[in-house]
Amino acid sequence: MLAERVKTLAPSSTLAVQAKAKALRAQGIDVISFGAGEPDFDTPERIKAAAVEAMRRGQTKYTEVAGIPELRRAVCAKFKRDNGLEYEPADVLVACGAKHVLFNMVVAVLDPGDEVLIPSPYWVSYPEQARLVGGVPVEVATSERTGFDLDPERLSAAVTPRTKVIVLNSPNNPTGAVFSAEALRAVARLAVERDLLVVSDECYEALTFEGRHVSIASLGPEIRARTLVINTCSKAYAMTGWRIGYAAGPRELIRAMTDVQSQVTSNASSVAQWAAVEALAGSQDEVGRMTAEFDRRRHRIVNGLNALPGVSCVKPKGAFYAFANVSALFGRSWESAETPVRLRGSLDVAAFLLAEARVAVVPGLDFGADTHVRLSYATSDALIGEGLARMGAAIRKLR
Ligand code: PMP
Ligand code: GLU
Repeated sequence: MLAERVKTLAPSSTLAVQAKAKALRAQGIDVISFGAGEPDFDTPERIKAAAVEAMRRGQTKYTEVAGIPELRRAVCAKFKRDNGLEYEPADVLVACGAKHVLFNMVVAVLDPGDEVLIPSPYWVSYPEQARLVGGVPVEVATSERTGFDLDPERLSAAVTPRTKVIVLNSPNNPTGAVFSAEALRAVARLAVERDLLVVSDECYEALTFEGRHVSIASLGPEIRARTLVINTCSKAYAMTGWRIGYAAGPRELIRAMTDVQSQVTSNASSVAQWAAVEALAGSQDEVGRMTAEFDRRRHRIVNGLNALPGVSCVKPKGAFYAFANVSALFGRSWESAETPVRLRGSLDVAAFLLAEARVAVVPGLDFGADTHVRLSYATSDALIGEGLARMGAAIRKLR
């Protein structure tokens, strides 16, 4: 009954871990989840009020497919204010989250067999979306030694005549890397020389704790002309459930992606779009407050992880993830399992932590790095402290 393409489709493991932790909690099992890739803060009141107001005004109908003009103007103003990028509303598309923007992109750009370079570790949806339309994801390793900075030489070596797209994600999910300006400049040169489209996923821009966020599109007119810049209201404004993501880029590409969207979802929710106008155009004070809180938790969790036996973690510079190397636990034995298990990879470590410590983490395998597990620290101080203590107690039981 099902198409070939879904037979090998991996469902989103980040969402699956969240769902599993929630289901266990519903059964009364006290699980601490480091799975959720979403802020634990509520959406700021001013943004909710704008949505209520929009509903009262009767803004409850279909809108322009690419988004209401007010929001596309607010997006242009945001790109100018934060990134020094000049766009017009016709260069902008609003979709149901950045994930949807990305899917519109693969449908609009990839022919079967076209290759997409994806620096690894990577966010789970990039390769799967490419595969869904017959594209070929090509993983290009970054290294822990450099804090997982982009590696222009390896990227350059991976380009073939079939390469069409490079996906960049800085600040990075899952590693927390903020790519250096030198590496971005080198990749910009590569993209121009080899005629590649750069897809720059900047969803965690607001959560940059060290270094400075640089949009690759701002490095010059040539690279700007071949870059799709993607962002979202999900992280900066704690709006994951509202589903508003947006992109700006070459007008021909935006038009094609809009046409794709017109046949699939039409516009993003009208009410959520009005909330997003307020998010982007109103006071940015809460963004700074939330970022400062995440930064504090970052130190706490990274120090705590590095104090655990057999665990090491480079300090992330952005986003809200700690990507911990657990390979020193491989070969150790978990005797209290139903049948004793020798830990061999990140799936085993995640299963062990869930069963023995009641702590949910995402296995690194799903991000292309089986030596690691990802912990989201978008959770309270108290839970971070308790979760780390439980992990320590469980690890000490390993033989
Ligand atoms: N890109 C990255 C790197 C992400 O981690 C996420 C997950 N939230 C998204 C895109 C999608 O975000 P949304 O669809 O909520 O805008
Ligand atoms: N992006 C978040 C994460 O990586 C949310 C879940 C998802 O959309 O994959 O956990």
